[in-house]
Amino acid sequence: MNLSLPLHPANTPLDAPNQQWGDWKWQARHALTTLKQLQERFQLTPEEVRGTARALVQGLPLSVTPYYASLGDPVDPHCPIRQQCIPNILEDTEIPGDLQDPLGEEKHEVAPHLVQRYPDRALLLVTDRCGVYCRFCTRSRMVGQGTPEQGPGARNLKSLEPAFQYLRNHPEVQDVIVSGGDPGLLSDARIAAVLEQLANIKSVQWVRFATRTPVTLPQRVTPGFCQALRSHPSLWLMTHFNHPKEITPESEAACAALVNAGIPVMNQSVLLRGINDDVATLESLFRGLVRIRVRPYYLLQADPVRGTGHFRTPLQTGLDLMAQIQGRVSGIAVPKFIVDTPGGHGKVAIQKDPVISRTAPSMDLPGTTMPGTTTLRTFRGEHVDYVDPA
Ligand code: SF4
Repeated sequence: MNLSLPLHPANTPLDAPNQQWGDWKWQARHALTTLKQLQERFQLTPEEVRGTARALVQGLPLSVTPYYASLGDPVDPHCPIRQQCIPNILEDTEIPGDLQDPLGEEKHEVAPHLVQRYPDRALLLVTDRCGVYCRFCTRSRMVGQGTPEQGPGARNLKSLEPAFQYLRNHPEVQDVIVSGGDPGLLSDARIAAVLEQLANIKSVQWVRFATRTPVTLPQRVTPGFCQALRSHPSLWLMTHFNHPKEITPESEAACAALVNAGIPVMNQSVLLRGINDDVATLESLFRGLVRIRVRPYYLLQADPVRGTGHFRTPLQTGLDLMAQIQGRVSGIAVPKFIVDTPGGHGKVAIQKDPVISRTAPSMDLPGTTMPGTTTLRTFRGEHVDYVDPA
């Protein structure tokens, strides 16, 4: 166990020279994928050791980039970074409500690797690989599962052609989410080629590129990567910060490079028990994101993915937290709280109802109309009447 080494790129447990540390391909190649590599970095609990042993033979695989591992606390198992990336034997537990495919993506597959759950948008799954496998992943049933031949190698342009053809034949689909796995792991040339195909389908008005690389592999955001993303004229990058500890000089530089290249960056966080389910952490996260010019877009209730029950909070927790957040930060830093309904029935935005009571317009006196009045609860808990125009 080598816990005394400072977590600095120049002297990491992997002894990577700075130049290599900043190279995303080196980071991807040197991802921690074995129990021994984890143990060289972290003082693992018995639950983490058993969880890792399990992940090496079944379920969601193990992969942690050296960069993301460097953010984790070597000794504290409650560290929000290590909880997100180190397997735990609790993944072997199934609780009521758990589903293998919580968003019903398989039944909504309209072409190979293309999922359509809404009339106007579709999800294109271009790879099954990620730099870090997040232990709460909604697509844990499929990410990292294929052999190299069945995985990213199979999703070359030829294998995606039926999906492109479907989009050509269905002009009602105007919004395509390029996801996976993490499409940020693809080469610049492959990213550009996929986006050029989509740019040539005129009915696709904009593309959302979903990647966690600014968080888990910020070295990936190179000038070539930004250039490749610009292969579609209207591209929004969706990323996934869950905790303020993930906002580092490296991730900040990655987001700055994207925004400075003209690419809007939005964030979808997942509400995770023991990681970010308290108001101070969420406030710090949302403020930090706006500071680095990333718009907090969604706070997602954790999907009921089989084996992730230990991460899930009751719905009421999210409602209460969001009510507190509303009063603490400006609207630009307040995401929508979203439940993606189990079974693939679509997202529902929810919040605590601020309406205390409502009275309809009335004509108590002849010729006199009393306007309708709504009593609202403010973030301070005051009850204030809003009177409709007569
Ligand atoms: S990066 Fe996204 S797809 Fe990959 S494991 Fe994490 S949540 Fe799942």
